[in-house]
Amino acid sequence: MSNGFDADVIVSGGGPVGQTLALALDQGGASVLLVDASKPSETLAPSFDGRAFAIAFSSFRMWRALGLADALEPVAQPIRQIMVTDGEVAGPGRRGGPSPLHLHFDGAELGEDGEPLGLMLEARHVRAALDAAVRAQSSIRMIQPMSVAGIERDAVSVTATLADGRRLRAPLLVGADGRRSFVRNATGVRTIGWDYPVTAIVATIQHELSHEGVAHEYFLPNGPFAILPLTGERSNIVWAEPRAAAEALLKMPEADFLAELRLRFGDFLGALSLEGPRFGYPLSLQLAERMIDARVALAGDAAHGIHPLAGQGLNLGLKDCAALAECVCDAMAVGLDAGDVSALERYQRWRRFDNVSMALGMEFFDKMFSNSITPLRAARRIGLAAVNAAGPARRFFMKYAGGAAGDLPKLLKGESLAA
Ligand SMILES: Cc1cc2nc3c(=O)[nH]c(=O)nc-3n(C[C@H](O)[C@H](O)[C@H](O)COP(=O)(O)OP(=O)(O)OC[C@H]3O[C@@H](n4cnc5c(N)ncnc54)[C@H](O)[C@@H]3O)c2cc1C
Repeated sequence: MSNGFDADVIVSGGGPVGQTLALALDQGGASVLLVDASKPSETLAPSFDGRAFAIAFSSFRMWRALGLADALEPVAQPIRQIMVTDGEVAGPGRRGGPSPLHLHFDGAELGEDGEPLGLMLEARHVRAALDAAVRAQSSIRMIQPMSVAGIERDAVSVTATLADGRRLRAPLLVGADGRRSFVRNATGVRTIGWDYPVTAIVATIQHELSHEGVAHEYFLPNGPFAILPLTGERSNIVWAEPRAAAEALLKMPEADFLAELRLRFGDFLGALSLEGPRFGYPLSLQLAERMIDARVALAGDAAHGIHPLAGQGLNLGLKDCAALAECVCDAMAVGLDAGDVSALERYQRWRRFDNVSMALGMEFFDKMFSNSITPLRAARRIGLAAVNAAGPARRFFMKYAGGAAGDLPKLLKGESLAA
């Protein structure tokens, strides 16, 4: 690097967003320094994160273009159909499971060369594949475990001070350091948001019968309950309950937990058992007031932490990666530096509206569905059935959820950034 720079871009945070961004920038010809605070021996352990991600087909196109398909496809479960229903908890006179008025998305209607609606990938597999891909790229320097602990800026550069005192200088620093982003806070970018009074219980369930690649989302009075298909006869559940109830469900003996689970899950997949531990994730909404500052960009949860009810949080972060890498590499191709204000403003214009509208859309769905007020319940059931009856509306939702609507960056179309 010339001008005393250590890299074109320093990425703080090596979660799924930071690692994907590092690979994308590297493909586009930018030199990258990736700093991550976590210990790989902990984050790569199977007991670290019980989540599974619903990855939109456009996000997967990007991972394919970055060379990750061989590692991810064997462990991915295609989502063939999605059933959204106003659910019921079983009880006297009630049978549990979905109501007859529902919304049904079928991948076969999309006509995208047989692409599924999305893929279910367990977080542990995503971490392992990204980690291996980054380490295989000798041009990406990874410093881990290490935190970015200080930031100074001048007109042409940003200097990140690491926790061990080392100082790294580049034209651009990206904060991909999650919801409590140090980079965001240190640059004075404020957030708006609030806690949801619920915790998401996440667990992997084994069941007797095949899920046939169908994902289910029930809207229960306490919050959404999702059944997401994994490889084999397994599904990942994301079950939102008020904080105290969730705590109790996380701690209760397995047999009691399974009895509670069956009341919501229903019996359509036969006998159920737990695979591995239960995990709890308190939910909150958090939106950064802007995605850029001088010589700094924010990506992923550092910029937007949303309700996981439609499984879009990481997908938004991956779209950020595709757009930011393209803006930075295009700027460098015409002789500008990686942190030029024109590149950063183009990035923010490209991503801000989508991120805010998705966050508010999830907010609307959560408020609309997480209650049992009778007229509202009737209205939303009719609403679901109406969208279900209207083919174009249904296809629009599928394209939007698949991340294929609007002006797509090259990587989300499956194109490489390599010159
Ligand atoms: C229950 C649940 C289910 C979900 N399901 C889905 C789904 O189906 N689909 C989907 O798209 N999304 C889903 N999400 C959202 C998704 O998990 C997040 O959007 C995603 O993990 C964010 O990734 P990230 O890389 O931005 O942040 P993180 O994963 O939080 O990574 C941040 C990284 O930064 C590092 N770091 C922090 N501070 C520093 C520092 N000072 N210096 C250096 N490094 C630092 C951390 O060690 C970490 O490695 C779900 C979320 C929840 C809670």
